[in-house]
Amino acid sequence: MTDAEFMGLAIRKAEEGIGAGQSPFGAVIVRGERLVVAVHNTVWRDGDPTAHAEVNAIRQAARALGTIDLSGGTIYSTCEPCPMCLGAIHWAKLKRLVYGATIEDAATAGFSELRIRAQRLAEMAGSSLHIVSGCLPAQCRSLFALWKQSALARAY
Ligand SMILES: [Zn+2]
Repeated sequence: MTDAEFMGLAIRKAEEGIGAGQSPFGAVIVRGERLVVAVHNTVWRDGDPTAHAEVNAIRQAARALGTIDLSGGTIYSTCEPCPMCLGAIHWAKLKRLVYGATIEDAATAGFSELRIRAQRLAEMAGSSLHIVSGCLPAQCRSLFALWKQSALARAY
């Protein structure tokens, strides 16, 4: 599968989350060619401010694979990861990050983002993470519009 196909899966997960009253973010972790997990943000469901899609994906992938070392893996996120998630990606030793919408898009949608670009944070921190931005950006951005149509939409 291609990056766009895996991102499409993350987008479908985010849509599923929106339908369940969650925030409009999805993430997928792949190792080799193998899909490990596809999840969405569950901050509202879990009452957990750290239950971002990327953190959920890392937790579930580590459990599924029985290791905290996800090196060699790629994480796809519908939105550029916040500093917390970028930190989690570092600790999981993922090799590649592919994202669609930007932190600025999430801020525009009403989320109180820490406005540090993932690439800049990685460079400041001396991370060797390979970051690919702009994967299906319009489709990822449109998740915010879909979410805003939901009566359950609440930002944080
Ligand atoms: Zn995050």
